[in-house]
Amino acid sequence: MKKNFTTRALNVKYPKSDPHNALQFPIYESVAFEFNTSEDIAANFRGELAAHAYSRTGNPTVEYFESKLKVLTGARQAMAVSSGMAAINLALLALCESGDNIVAWRNLFGHSFALLSTTYKQFGIETRFANFNKIAEIEALIDDKTRVIYFETVTNPQLEIADIEAITKIAHNRGIVVVLDSTLTPPAVFEASKYGVDVEVFSTTKFISGGATSVGGAILDYGLYDWKLNPNLAPLTERFGADTFYARLKKNVFRNFGSCMTAHTAYFQILGLDILELRLKQSYYNCLELGDFFDEHEKIVQFNYPGHPSCEGKDRADKYFEGIPGTIMTFDLESQEACFAFMNRLQVIRRATNLNDNKSLIIHPWSTIYTEFTETERKEMGIRPTMMRLSVGIEGPDDLIDDIKQALA
Ligand SMILES: *Cc1c(COP(=O)(O)O)cnc(C)c1O
Repeated sequence: MKKNFTTRALNVKYPKSDPHNALQFPIYESVAFEFNTSEDIAANFRGELAAHAYSRTGNPTVEYFESKLKVLTGARQAMAVSSGMAAINLALLALCESGDNIVAWRNLFGHSFALLSTTYKQFGIETRFANFNKIAEIEALIDDKTRVIYFETVTNPQLEIADIEAITKIAHNRGIVVVLDSTLTPPAVFEASKYGVDVEVFSTTKFISGGATSVGGAILDYGLYDWKLNPNLAPLTERFGADTFYARLKKNVFRNFGSCMTAHTAYFQILGLDILELRLKQSYYNCLELGDFFDEHEKIVQFNYPGHPSCEGKDRADKYFEGIPGTIMTFDLESQEACFAFMNRLQVIRRATNLNDNKSLIIHPWSTIYTEFTETERKEMGIRPTMMRLSVGIEGPDDLIDDIKQALA
């Protein structure tokens, strides 16, 4: 029988036995690692002797975090990197070259949208944006230069859930790799490979870091895709086989861009991963309690949480995420002024922009994250001046409800 997520997280084997029998994997905060002989160092540089040489290319604490991610997800390969944005960028650059294109959902995390629409354009990689709720729109944009289909499990702050299975099917019919950002729905509730996702990327800064301790990201390769189908990778398949993507990632983009995770960060990420499931469940429970409260309260114009029975998206939340589509909610008051006054009165819930901290965090997206867009653009993206986004933490549910009650009064 497969053990529970937390049991598995707590029992991932060390690659070597620790000389002091440390129960918590140590922080190897050392840049370089010594070799016994010049023959050994030469063999290591030829790729014939596995050993650590330099922490930008490999570090024991970071690798232990990677091995935990592998065990917990069943991925063939896992790579930890410096941030969620680094994970997205490195994965895409390992797959695309100048002249290629990516088909992506228009509703992406803001900096991902900027990376794809602006930065990549400067280097000759085009992104074609579609509404991923309309499968025909995706199909119409695919051509023989399309290398990646890219989207997110749950969009933020619209909280729309893609039909992941339908999208991977379209991509695979055309021989295209699927890269999915699952930041909002971490591995404790989402099994990417079950739905045909080839490469999963996420920001470990959010849920996994264990309460906003450190910035990090991860790239997982499930070993499902035949790399011969991608002309940029095909020449490498003879040498690297099923690990072709990982080899290009590791030996080319990751190493040369220098986007490594530090040993200290990996240590925080390991601690966070160990208690991820517990935190996620408490936050989810709070979301349901808050949903019931919002449902009843006359000052709440509308609220959205696809995990709540009265909201749209519950079917897909059940199908893909064991009923837990992350722990972000949105709700509306009658006006922007009412939102501002309400937020200013909150005492337990904090005004901040991060997601999935242990603390509940609130923001008014219209006046902050989306302020650079015109009113029409914001409306097209489903952003309203009356809407607030709440990232629900692990506090006691009654304390959150009391805080909201007094702030609404
Ligand atoms: C935060 C976030 C990112 C970027 O992660 P960083 O660790 O801040 O670089 C990417 N995708 C999604 C969905 C996010 O929420």
